[in-house]
Amino acid sequence: MNGADGRTRTGDLTLTKRLLYQLSYIGTWLGHCNGLALDNGLTAGGFRTKQRLRAQFSEVETQVQTKGTLTVICGPMFSGKSRELIRTVHIAEIAGQPVTLLKAGIDLRYSVDDVASHDGLTMKARAVNTAREIIAIVQSAPVTPTVVAIDEGQFFDQGLAAVCIWLRDKGMRVVVAGLDRNFRGEPFGPMPELLAIADDVIKLRAVCMRCKDPRVTATLPQRLIDGRPAPYDSPEILVGGLDSYEARCLNCHEVPGRPDPGQLIQGMLGH
Ligand code: ADP
Ligand code: MG
Ligand code: ZN
Repeated sequence: MNGADGRTRTGDLTLTKRLLYQLSYIGTWLGHCNGLALDNGLTAGGFRTKQRLRAQFSEVETQVQTKGTLTVICGPMFSGKSRELIRTVHIAEIAGQPVTLLKAGIDLRYSVDDVASHDGLTMKARAVNTAREIIAIVQSAPVTPTVVAIDEGQFFDQGLAAVCIWLRDKGMRVVVAGLDRNFRGEPFGPMPELLAIADDVIKLRAVCMRCKDPRVTATLPQRLIDGRPAPYDSPEILVGGLDSYEARCLNCHEVPGRPDPGQLIQGMLGH
């Protein structure tokens, strides 16, 4: 301390250095006075320490980067997916969060660029045709959105899952509404992958329009052509409203010409 003892002085110096390192560390954490205390009179060893601390910090920073979430709202037509999506966006807006609301451009049933529910709720949205377009929209948004909500997810290409992961990694809350199954009762577009990677899944049901079971049992979209069930080999995408689709339960769902699962099983058993 008084300079009479070399060891004591070395000890003091080490103590001072340690203090300075800690200050630097705190400074780095705060993102402000990063290394200020060390910038003058540092030894090579001190510089290396500073570099090491910086490396540690960026490692910690990567680890603690808060990711967002992916919620998928699925179910047949008329189950309330768009209604639920609009509600989610509405709540986010009340909370003052910036929201980007998108819909598949192919869906022109009620409006070109509104998300609309069958019971009359509407909300301004942006129509997009490919998952790729979503990247540019989010990147060019004047304010980075906290919530990205997408309706009619089934109409997008397979790139939608990757885009949703990218948005979630950036910390956004991503909500995708869409039909999990097509009129054949088979997985629809990118929805199966989205459902697999989702953090939360909301699977909604509607009233079956054939048996009208009050327990709300419809899980499938029934396509009707001229009032009759559409055959299995009709095209997968045929956007329509009440005139060509209704919600049905598994018992009432009809797909003439659908491959018989019994035959498939027999094939698997080698008969
Ligand atoms: P989705 O986006 O899943 O097609 P919407 O949110 O657009 O559903 O519409 C849900 C609304 O549709 C319900 O609130 C109800 O008013 C109406 N609706 C019409 N048919 C049915 C049905 N069979 N079962 C339940 N709701 C129905
Ligand atoms: Mg809808
Ligand atoms: Zn039914």
